[in-house]
Amino acid sequence: MALTLETLVADRFRLTPTQREALRRLGIETIKDLLYHFPNRYGDVVESRSIESLRQGDQAVVFGEVSGLKASKGFRSKVAMADGYVSDQTGRIHCVWFNQPYLAKMTPEGARVRIEGRVSARRKSGELYFSNPRLEVVSELPNGSADSLFGTGGPNHNLYPVYPESRGISSAWLYHNIQKIFRSGLLDELEDPLPGHILVKYHLPNIRTALVWIHAPAKPADAEAARKRFAFEEIFLIQLSRQRLRAAYRANPALIIDPDRRALAQFLKRFPFALTNAQERSIAAIITDFGSDQAMERLLEGDVGSGKTAVAAVAAFAAVTTRPSIRNDRGVLVPQNYGHLQVAYMCPTEILATQQFESFIGYFAYLPIRIGLITSSGCRVFPSKVNPKGWTDISRSQLLAWVENGEVSILVGTHALIEKSVAFRHLAFVIIDEQHRFGTAQRGRLLRKNDASNDKPSVPHLLSMTATPIPRTLALTIYGDLDLTLLDETPAGRKPIVTEIVYPSKRSETYEKIRQELRAGRQAFVICPRIDEPDPEKAAAVIAKSVKEEAARLKREIFPEYEIGVVHGKLKPAEKERVMNDFKDGRLQILCATSVVEVGVNVPNATVIVIEGAERFGLAQLHQLRGRVMRSSHQAYCYCFAETTSPKSVERLQALQTAKNGFELAEADMAQRGAGGLSGARQWGVSDVAMEALKNLKLVETARQEASRLVNEDQELSKYPALRLAAEIVTAHIHFE
Ligand code: ADP
Ligand code: MG
Repeated sequence: MALTLETLVADRFRLTPTQREALRRLGIETIKDLLYHFPNRYGDVVESRSIESLRQGDQAVVFGEVSGLKASKGFRSKVAMADGYVSDQTGRIHCVWFNQPYLAKMTPEGARVRIEGRVSARRKSGELYFSNPRLEVVSELPNGSADSLFGTGGPNHNLYPVYPESRGISSAWLYHNIQKIFRSGLLDELEDPLPGHILVKYHLPNIRTALVWIHAPAKPADAEAARKRFAFEEIFLIQLSRQRLRAAYRANPALIIDPDRRALAQFLKRFPFALTNAQERSIAAIITDFGSDQAMERLLEGDVGSGKTAVAAVAAFAAVTTRPSIRNDRGVLVPQNYGHLQVAYMCPTEILATQQFESFIGYFAYLPIRIGLITSSGCRVFPSKVNPKGWTDISRSQLLAWVENGEVSILVGTHALIEKSVAFRHLAFVIIDEQHRFGTAQRGRLLRKNDASNDKPSVPHLLSMTATPIPRTLALTIYGDLDLTLLDETPAGRKPIVTEIVYPSKRSETYEKIRQELRAGRQAFVICPRIDEPDPEKAAAVIAKSVKEEAARLKREIFPEYEIGVVHGKLKPAEKERVMNDFKDGRLQILCATSVVEVGVNVPNATVIVIEGAERFGLAQLHQLRGRVMRSSHQAYCYCFAETTSPKSVERLQALQTAKNGFELAEADMAQRGAGGLSGARQWGVSDVAMEALKNLKLVETARQEASRLVNEDQELSKYPALRLAAEIVTAHIHFE
């Protein structure tokens, strides 16, 4: 059978169960996966040693020629083994491989090899030897390998790839099998997804050259050029896929939202505070977008506490006070004489949904409109017949009927919002809170809630909101389909938070400071450390346990006089809500929690946050955590409890005391920790190579420009079938959650 990119590795190579398992862990299934499993670095002969210089106990790499290799049985143990010599210009060394007699058959006399292992010495004679070293046949001995400690750094460097490995699959295995694929001729048949003119314009190697250069570079510059090409390719494909989705979305008309400016000004006056400049700018941008029948797709990125809800509320006001109108075929706006426009507000958790439902009641209670809440545990509607100032529980079917006939103007909810049974009459505006917690598919479903019987149903304007500060380049890439607005200003009157990095010796002193705050009537969060555990189920269980233990310890040893609650991912939603409410209402003074739950929760009386194992978090994430206590006019405190005193992590944490906002910290995270340093880099669905390239704003902007040029030219990319296919694969595979 002909080898293709889609061929399964298991069908091509004989694999042991251990190897199969290792490949699964590495995410390698097809030949393509294997070819795109890139080295994370290259070893160089400057790291190798002359045999003469070896000493007992050294971990070393030598290059040399094999002689006298034979299979035999161990003298006493009778274990099957291979042994022989490897020599370079300075000497020779004995090598033995237990349980690998086949090496003798596979490695011809005189073969050039790379040997890596620990140098041992015979007890009696003191003779040095390698025991079970890694053996790799190399095509050429590196130039001057004997005295390569003084490597020239010139063109004769001999690079060998070092891959991310997993037990059972070594770098050598990967290298050799990739070489086999190269020899199969498959590369000649590969079609380059990148259009030729782009390769030429940006001096990028074509796909064949790039694959060879990344796996077997003759010189460092080749490897670099190849990495650059793959980074560009990935970012370009992501951009292309996002922008095609955007173009498709915009092919449908949006409901035009044209609010009465006077009423809008009145609404703004009702806020108990003056809007920040950043809030005003965001609102202006949204209102401008609303005036078009090209749907808005905008991301509002702002620190926790920057006032995103107020922006969303103003925009929602604009929608629910506008009567629907649609542009007819001749481009004339035709008012529709039924009802008002509707708004959907989706939150990632029940607690947040309930909280936003309540805050929207606060904003809109004076208007004659209905507001609904839908979650998996029930539905509510405002106003209640019995109590016009409050909400009431309501059956799901009644709520959905009112949503469908347009009587409910604003529907707040969790994922329950996107269920099939939920249909709107005139959904004009969708707000997604903490949007990174939703996948694009979920977002897409919410955007298609208007009249599905129509072949061109109107699509709602979209406002996504996130408090996750991510670097600009990453935002431009993964949110390539969204216009970006930053809410980079904190409301006036908030005292800057006091952030302290606390070492083990200062613990008890710090607990006393916290006690002072609690005595003054304030409340505190205690965040338990992150735990790296690839299996999410297991991680949740381990973290839940640590949260419970920490709460018990605090109660027993530190704060016996206070009530302490726990919140973690293993609790049922209702249970979580009960605990959160107890905390909000002051029945609990301390809340022990994980880092992931309820990012947006608003408890103005909580002014202290303790973060255990602070160095295990990214800076941006720490900043986000401390944002939970930056919502009131009381002085807020963040205590980062560090487990180590290593100067490097101290320096890193100190950035928290100086940075002005989350965006600065996100950039710092990326600069300091680089690829994969962003907390959970993989959660964005971006490979390590592309993550590295995200440091390069110019590359990202170039990829974005080229992508939008192609999409504007022809959304279908009909001139570039290979590119189109690649973009479609990205669209199908990438989930931003
Ligand atoms: P987030 O951006 O995290 O969603 P919120 O919208 O929950 O922030 O706002 C946090 C708090 O700040 C709320 O109590 C809100 O009433 C208040 N707030 C919002 N905007 C302003 C402002 N311009 N001035 C003062 N307080 C504000
Ligand atoms: Mg919020």
